[in-house]
Amino acid sequence: MKELVVISGKGGTGKTSIVAAFAALAKKAVLADCDVDAADLHLLLQPDIKQSHDFSGGKLASVITEKCIGCGRCEEVCNFDAAIFNGPANDVVEITYTIDSIACEGCGVCVHFCPVDAIEFKDAINGKWFVSDTRFGPMLHAKLGIAEENSGKLVSLIRKEAKRIAAEQNRNLIIVDGSPGIGCPVIASIAGADLVLVVTEPTIAAQHDLDRVAELTEHFKIPTVVCINKYDINVKIAKAIEKESLERNLKVVGKIAYDVAVTKAQIAAKSIVEYSNNGLKEQIVSLWESVLDTLKETANTKGTK
Ligand code: SF4
Ligand code: SF4
Repeated sequence: MKELVVISGKGGTGKTSIVAAFAALAKKAVLADCDVDAADLHLLLQPDIKQSHDFSGGKLASVITEKCIGCGRCEEVCNFDAAIFNGPANDVVEITYTIDSIACEGCGVCVHFCPVDAIEFKDAINGKWFVSDTRFGPMLHAKLGIAEENSGKLVSLIRKEAKRIAAEQNRNLIIVDGSPGIGCPVIASIAGADLVLVVTEPTIAAQHDLDRVAELTEHFKIPTVVCINKYDINVKIAKAIEKESLERNLKVVGKIAYDVAVTKAQIAAKSIVEYSNNGLKEQIVSLWESVLDTLKETANTKGTK
Protein backbone atom coordinates (compact mmCIF):
# COMPACT_ATOMS: atom_id res chain seq x y z
CA MET A 1 0.00 0.00 0.00
CA LYS A 2 1.32 3.45 -0.96
CA GLU A 3 0.47 6.84 0.48
CA LEU A 4 0.66 9.97 -1.66
CA VAL A 5 0.28 13.30 0.15
CA VAL A 6 -0.49 16.45 -1.81
CA ILE A 7 0.47 19.67 -0.04
CA SER A 8 1.10 23.33 -0.76
CA GLY A 9 2.87 26.10 1.11
CA LYS A 10 -0.41 27.95 1.51
CA GLY A 11 -4.07 27.64 0.54
CA GLY A 12 -5.38 28.62 -2.89
CA THR A 13 -2.75 26.99 -5.11
CA GLY A 14 -5.22 24.50 -6.60
CA LYS A 15 -4.09 21.59 -4.43
CA THR A 16 -7.59 20.29 -3.73
CA SER A 17 -8.60 20.45 -7.42
CA ILE A 18 -5.57 18.32 -8.24
CA VAL A 19 -6.41 15.84 -5.46
CA ALA A 20 -9.98 15.54 -6.80
CA ALA A 21 -8.63 14.92 -10.31
CA PHE A 22 -6.27 12.23 -8.95
CA ALA A 23 -9.21 10.66 -7.12
CA ALA A 24 -11.04 10.39 -10.45
CA LEU A 25 -8.01 8.95 -12.24
CA ALA A 26 -6.91 6.50 -9.54
CA LYS A 27 -8.13 2.98 -9.34
CA LYS A 28 -8.94 1.51 -5.94
CA ALA A 29 -7.69 4.48 -3.91
CA VAL A 30 -8.78 5.63 -0.47
CA LEU A 31 -9.12 9.40 -0.15
CA ALA A 32 -8.25 11.35 2.97
CA ASP A 33 -8.87 15.06 3.49
CA CYS A 34 -6.27 16.11 6.05
CA ASP A 35 -6.74 19.83 5.44
CA VAL A 36 -8.91 19.71 8.57
CA ASP A 37 -8.78 23.44 9.33
CA ALA A 38 -10.26 24.29 5.92
CA ALA A 39 -11.56 21.04 4.50
CA ASP A 40 -13.07 21.47 1.04
CA LEU A 41 -12.42 18.23 -0.85
CA HIS A 42 -15.98 17.25 0.07
CA LEU A 43 -17.28 20.13 -2.07
CA LEU A 44 -15.90 18.41 -5.17
CA LEU A 45 -16.45 14.79 -4.18
CA GLN A 46 -19.87 15.16 -2.49
CA PRO A 47 -19.31 12.35 0.02
CA ASP A 48 -22.17 10.28 1.29
CA ILE A 49 -21.45 10.07 5.03
CA LYS A 50 -21.66 6.50 6.35
CA GLN A 51 -20.14 6.95 9.80
CA SER A 52 -19.71 9.99 12.03
CA HIS A 53 -17.46 9.99 15.12
CA ASP A 54 -16.61 12.55 17.79
CA PHE A 55 -13.02 13.71 17.89
CA SER A 56 -11.41 14.49 21.22
CA GLY A 57 -8.09 16.29 21.07
CA GLY A 58 -7.70 16.85 24.81
CA LYS A 59 -9.39 17.23 28.18
CA LEU A 60 -11.59 19.87 29.78
CA ALA A 61 -12.18 20.60 33.47
CA SER A 62 -15.63 21.34 34.92
CA VAL A 63 -16.78 21.96 38.48
CA ILE A 64 -19.35 19.67 40.11
CA THR A 65 -21.37 22.46 41.73
CA GLU A 66 -22.84 20.33 44.57
CA LYS A 67 -19.36 19.40 45.79
CA CYS A 68 -17.61 22.78 45.53
CA ILE A 69 -16.77 24.43 48.86
CA GLY A 70 -15.73 27.72 47.25
CA CYS A 71 -12.16 27.56 48.60
CA GLY A 72 -10.71 29.22 45.47
CA ARG A 73 -7.78 26.80 45.21
CA CYS A 74 -8.58 26.16 41.51
CA GLU A 75 -8.38 29.89 40.78
CA GLU A 76 -5.00 30.12 42.54
CA VAL A 77 -3.41 27.26 40.61
CA CYS A 78 -4.87 27.87 37.17
CA ASN A 79 -2.38 29.62 34.90
CA PHE A 80 -5.02 30.39 32.31
CA ASP A 81 -7.54 32.33 34.43
CA ALA A 82 -10.13 29.70 33.61
CA ALA A 83 -11.54 29.18 37.14
CA ILE A 84 -14.16 31.82 37.86
CA PHE A 85 -16.00 32.71 41.08
CA ASN A 86 -19.46 33.00 39.55
CA GLY A 87 -21.16 29.64 40.05
CA PRO A 88 -24.58 28.95 41.60
CA ALA A 89 -25.12 28.42 45.32
CA ASN A 90 -25.14 24.98 46.89
CA ASP A 91 -25.79 23.66 50.42
CA VAL A 92 -22.39 24.91 51.61
CA VAL A 93 -21.66 28.26 49.95
CA GLU A 94 -23.55 31.02 48.22
CA ILE A 95 -21.18 31.23 45.30
CA THR A 96 -19.26 28.33 43.81
CA TYR A 97 -16.61 28.25 41.11
CA THR A 98 -17.07 27.40 37.44
CA ILE A 99 -14.58 26.72 34.67
CA ASP A 100 -14.54 28.83 31.52
CA SER A 101 -14.41 26.10 28.84
CA ILE A 102 -12.91 28.48 26.24
CA ALA A 103 -10.05 29.52 28.54
CA CYS A 104 -9.40 26.04 29.97
CA GLU A 105 -6.32 24.46 28.40
CA GLY A 106 -7.01 21.05 29.92
CA CYS A 107 -3.78 20.91 31.92
CA GLY A 108 -5.46 19.12 34.85
CA VAL A 109 -3.71 21.10 37.61
CA CYS A 110 -6.95 22.24 39.27
CA VAL A 111 -8.24 18.66 39.28
CA HIS A 112 -5.16 17.63 41.19
CA PHE A 113 -5.39 20.45 43.78
CA CYS A 114 -9.13 20.58 44.48
CA PRO A 115 -9.38 19.43 48.13
CA VAL A 116 -12.82 17.83 47.73
CA ASP A 117 -12.61 16.25 44.26
CA ALA A 118 -15.15 18.71 42.93
CA ILE A 119 -13.60 19.01 39.48
CA GLU A 120 -14.34 16.56 36.69
CA PHE A 121 -11.85 16.03 33.89
CA LYS A 122 -13.54 14.76 30.74
CA ASP A 123 -12.60 14.36 27.10
CA ALA A 124 -13.24 17.59 25.23
CA ILE A 125 -15.12 17.13 21.96
CA ASN A 126 -13.23 19.29 19.44
CA GLY A 127 -14.75 18.11 16.21
CA LYS A 128 -16.06 15.22 14.17
CA TRP A 129 -14.56 12.82 11.68
CA PHE A 130 -16.38 10.88 9.00
CA VAL A 131 -16.12 7.77 6.89
CA SER A 132 -17.90 8.34 3.59
CA ASP A 133 -18.47 6.87 0.17
CA THR A 134 -17.72 8.91 -2.92
CA ARG A 135 -18.06 8.12 -6.61
CA PHE A 136 -14.31 7.38 -6.56
CA GLY A 137 -14.11 5.23 -3.42
CA PRO A 138 -14.07 5.64 0.35
CA MET A 139 -13.15 8.98 1.85
CA LEU A 140 -12.05 10.01 5.34
CA HIS A 141 -12.64 13.59 6.33
CA ALA A 142 -13.23 15.75 9.38
CA LYS A 143 -14.64 18.95 10.73
CA LEU A 144 -12.81 20.71 13.52
CA GLY A 145 -14.89 22.93 15.82
CA ILE A 146 -14.47 26.71 15.45
CA ALA A 147 -11.26 27.93 17.15
CA GLU A 148 -10.42 24.37 18.15
CA GLU A 149 -6.84 23.23 18.17
CA ASN A 150 -5.09 19.87 18.01
CA SER A 151 -5.59 19.54 14.27
CA GLY A 152 -2.30 17.60 14.10
CA LYS A 153 -3.84 14.88 16.25
CA LEU A 154 -6.95 14.82 14.05
CA VAL A 155 -4.81 14.58 10.89
CA SER A 156 -2.95 11.58 12.34
CA LEU A 157 -6.27 9.94 13.18
CA ILE A 158 -7.63 10.47 9.63
CA ARG A 159 -4.48 8.97 8.10
CA LYS A 160 -4.57 6.00 10.45
CA GLU A 161 -8.21 5.29 9.60
CA ALA A 162 -7.51 5.67 5.86
CA LYS A 163 -4.79 3.02 6.17
CA ARG A 164 -7.13 0.72 8.06
CA ILE A 165 -9.82 1.00 5.39
CA ALA A 166 -7.29 0.58 2.57
CA ALA A 167 -6.06 -2.64 4.18
CA GLU A 168 -9.61 -3.89 4.83
CA GLN A 169 -10.76 -3.24 1.27
CA ASN A 170 -7.51 -4.26 -0.38
CA ARG A 171 -6.94 -0.84 -1.91
CA ASN A 172 -3.35 -0.14 -2.82
CA LEU A 173 -3.21 3.65 -2.74
CA ILE A 174 -4.13 6.40 -0.28
CA ILE A 175 -4.38 9.92 -1.68
CA VAL A 176 -4.14 12.54 1.03
CA ASP A 177 -5.15 16.17 0.65
CA GLY A 178 -2.61 17.53 3.14
CA SER A 179 -2.71 20.58 5.36
CA PRO A 180 -1.14 23.77 4.02
CA GLY A 181 1.76 25.57 5.70
CA ILE A 182 4.66 24.09 7.64
CA GLY A 183 3.17 23.72 11.13
CA CYS A 184 2.08 20.76 13.20
CA PRO A 185 -0.85 19.71 10.93
CA VAL A 186 1.34 19.48 7.81
CA ILE A 187 4.01 17.53 9.69
CA ALA A 188 1.24 15.17 10.83
CA SER A 189 0.09 14.97 7.17
CA ILE A 190 3.42 13.96 5.67
CA ALA A 191 5.32 11.99 8.32
CA GLY A 192 6.04 8.51 6.99
CA ALA A 193 4.35 9.09 3.59
CA ASP A 194 5.74 7.39 0.47
CA LEU A 195 5.64 10.51 -1.68
CA VAL A 196 4.81 14.17 -1.25
CA LEU A 197 3.61 16.23 -4.19
CA VAL A 198 3.98 19.95 -3.56
CA VAL A 199 1.58 22.07 -5.58
CA THR A 200 2.91 25.56 -6.05
CA GLU A 201 2.18 28.54 -8.29
CA PRO A 202 4.43 31.18 -9.86
CA THR A 203 4.17 33.96 -7.30
CA ILE A 204 6.92 35.31 -5.04
CA ALA A 205 4.96 34.24 -1.94
CA ALA A 206 4.46 30.69 -3.24
CA GLN A 207 8.13 30.51 -4.25
CA HIS A 208 9.10 31.36 -0.69
CA ASP A 209 6.55 28.87 0.71
CA LEU A 210 7.92 26.12 -1.54
CA ASP A 211 11.36 26.73 -0.06
CA ARG A 212 10.05 26.22 3.46
CA VAL A 213 8.02 23.14 2.51
CA ALA A 214 11.04 21.65 0.70
CA GLU A 215 13.15 22.13 3.84
CA LEU A 216 10.49 20.32 5.83
CA THR A 217 10.24 17.27 3.55
CA GLU A 218 14.03 17.17 3.27
CA HIS A 219 14.27 17.17 7.05
CA PHE A 220 11.86 14.21 7.27
CA LYS A 221 13.56 12.50 4.31
CA ILE A 222 10.33 12.06 2.36
CA PRO A 223 10.61 11.74 -1.44
CA THR A 224 9.15 14.94 -2.86
CA VAL A 225 8.14 16.16 -6.30
CA VAL A 226 6.72 19.48 -7.47
CA CYS A 227 3.84 20.60 -9.67
CA ILE A 228 3.70 24.24 -10.83
CA ASN A 229 0.05 25.10 -11.17
CA LYS A 230 -1.04 28.07 -13.33
CA TYR A 231 2.59 28.25 -14.51
CA ASP A 232 1.70 30.55 -17.39
CA ILE A 233 0.50 33.41 -15.19
CA ASN A 234 4.18 34.26 -14.64
CA VAL A 235 6.54 32.21 -16.80
CA LYS A 236 9.63 33.97 -15.39
CA ILE A 237 8.91 32.94 -11.80
CA ALA A 238 7.81 29.48 -13.00
CA LYS A 239 11.26 29.05 -14.58
CA ALA A 240 12.95 30.25 -11.38
CA ILE A 241 10.92 27.69 -9.39
CA GLU A 242 11.98 24.95 -11.83
CA LYS A 243 15.62 25.93 -11.44
CA GLU A 244 15.45 26.05 -7.65
CA SER A 245 13.61 22.72 -7.55
CA LEU A 246 16.35 21.15 -9.67
CA GLU A 247 19.01 22.54 -7.33
CA ARG A 248 17.18 20.97 -4.42
CA ASN A 249 16.88 17.66 -6.26
CA LEU A 250 13.13 18.01 -6.50
CA LYS A 251 11.72 16.79 -9.79
CA VAL A 252 9.08 19.02 -11.40
CA VAL A 253 6.61 16.37 -12.48
CA GLY A 254 4.03 18.68 -13.97
CA LYS A 255 3.24 22.19 -15.15
CA ILE A 256 -0.43 23.02 -15.42
CA ALA A 257 -1.70 26.02 -17.35
CA TYR A 258 -4.20 28.47 -15.90
CA ASP A 259 -7.67 27.56 -17.07
CA VAL A 260 -11.00 29.01 -16.05
CA ALA A 261 -12.43 25.48 -16.45
CA VAL A 262 -10.99 24.69 -12.98
CA THR A 263 -13.33 27.22 -11.36
CA LYS A 264 -16.23 26.09 -13.52
CA ALA A 265 -15.58 22.48 -12.47
CA GLN A 266 -15.59 23.56 -8.81
CA ILE A 267 -18.92 25.29 -9.25
CA ALA A 268 -20.28 22.13 -10.91
CA ALA A 269 -18.90 20.03 -7.98
CA LYS A 270 -16.82 17.98 -10.39
CA SER A 271 -13.16 17.15 -10.72
CA ILE A 272 -11.46 18.82 -13.66
CA VAL A 273 -10.96 15.52 -15.49
CA GLU A 274 -14.70 14.84 -15.34
CA TYR A 275 -15.56 18.37 -16.38
CA SER A 276 -13.11 19.18 -19.13
CA ASN A 277 -11.83 17.41 -22.20
CA ASN A 278 -9.41 20.10 -23.27
CA GLY A 279 -5.61 20.34 -22.98
CA LEU A 280 -5.88 20.87 -19.24
CA LYS A 281 -7.14 17.34 -18.77
CA GLU A 282 -4.14 16.03 -20.73
CA GLN A 283 -1.77 17.98 -18.49
CA ILE A 284 -3.40 16.55 -15.36
CA VAL A 285 -3.33 13.01 -16.74
CA SER A 286 0.33 13.44 -17.60
CA LEU A 287 1.01 14.78 -14.07
CA TRP A 288 -0.81 11.78 -12.60
CA GLU A 289 1.24 9.35 -14.68
CA SER A 290 4.49 11.01 -13.61
CA VAL A 291 3.41 10.83 -9.97
CA LEU A 292 2.58 7.12 -10.33
CA ASP A 293 5.97 6.49 -11.98
CA THR A 294 7.73 8.28 -9.13
CA LEU A 295 5.74 6.27 -6.59
CA LYS A 296 6.93 3.08 -8.30
CA GLU A 297 10.53 4.34 -8.30
CA THR A 298 10.36 5.14 -4.57
CA ALA A 299 8.97 1.65 -3.97
CA ASN A 300 11.89 0.14 -5.93
CA THR A 301 14.41 2.26 -4.03
CA LYS A 302 12.90 1.17 -0.74
CA GLY A 303 12.97 -2.43 -1.93
CA THR A 304 16.69 -2.27 -2.69
CA LYS A 305 17.62 -0.80 0.71
S1 SF4 B 1 -10.74 23.95 44.31
FE1 SF4 B 1 -12.54 22.66 44.17
S2 SF4 B 1 -13.71 23.13 46.01
FE2 SF4 B 1 -12.21 24.74 45.75
S3 SF4 B 1 -13.32 26.32 44.66
FE3 SF4 B 1 -12.28 25.08 43.12
S4 SF4 B 1 -13.77 23.54 42.56
FE4 SF4 B 1 -14.51 24.46 44.41
S1 SF4 C 1 -7.55 22.14 33.69
FE1 SF4 C 1 -5.84 23.59 33.81
S2 SF4 C 1 -6.46 25.23 32.46
FE2 SF4 C 1 -8.30 24.08 32.88
S3 SF4 C 1 -9.19 25.15 34.61
FE3 SF4 C 1 -7.93 23.50 35.44
S4 SF4 C 1 -5.96 24.46 35.87
FE4 SF4 C 1 -7.08 25.83 34.51
